Amino acid sequence: MAKRLFIDLNKCDACEKCAVNCAYFYRPQMTDHGMLALRELAAFALICRRCEEPSCVAACKYEALERQPDGILKRYNLRCVSCKSCSHACPFGTIYPETLPFYAVKCDFCALMGAGEIPCTINCAKQAVEFREVEESPKEGIFLIGEHLAVRAPRWNKKDV
Ligand code: SF4
Ligand code: SF4
Repeated sequence: MAKRLFIDLNKCDACEKCAVNCAYFYRPQMTDHGMLALRELAAFALICRRCEEPSCVAACKYEALERQPDGILKRYNLRCVSCKSCSHACPFGTIYPETLPFYAVKCDFCALMGAGEIPCTINCAKQAVEFREVEESPKEGIFLIGEHLAVRAPRWNKKDV
């Protein structure tokens, strides 16, 4: 079984300040935040309610947010100005404002490209990100996203009212 980056959003959300420093593979002298991009990807895939008429998309003046045919949101980071209108517009609070920096660097899964050291797994104080083998387990809230990512996310539970 191939290894994946495994992010535990339950632990990650517990951080007051994300202490993960992603050293971008091609520019090791800089500190980027690929982890923010991964958190956004995970939240769009697993926590967003995939509204049919999403108020977040309607709130974006810059056409930076799009609902894809499968219902999963996509944010175009070169159009996004980090106004956070989408975050305010979501009635469920599923767009975390801290994941909307003015310019977000995408994670390129450097671990899988032979970067050797995996900075995001070393620096996270909450151990919310690991690089390991992982099996999908909906019962435990663990889902595989794409080829290289696995995420544990909080479950939506319907409550009787
Ligand atoms: S933060 Fe970005 S995606 Fe969200 S409404 Fe503003 S420009 Fe659009
Ligand atoms: S981010 Fe919020 S408003 Fe937008 S589609 Fe998801 S749940 Fe709906």
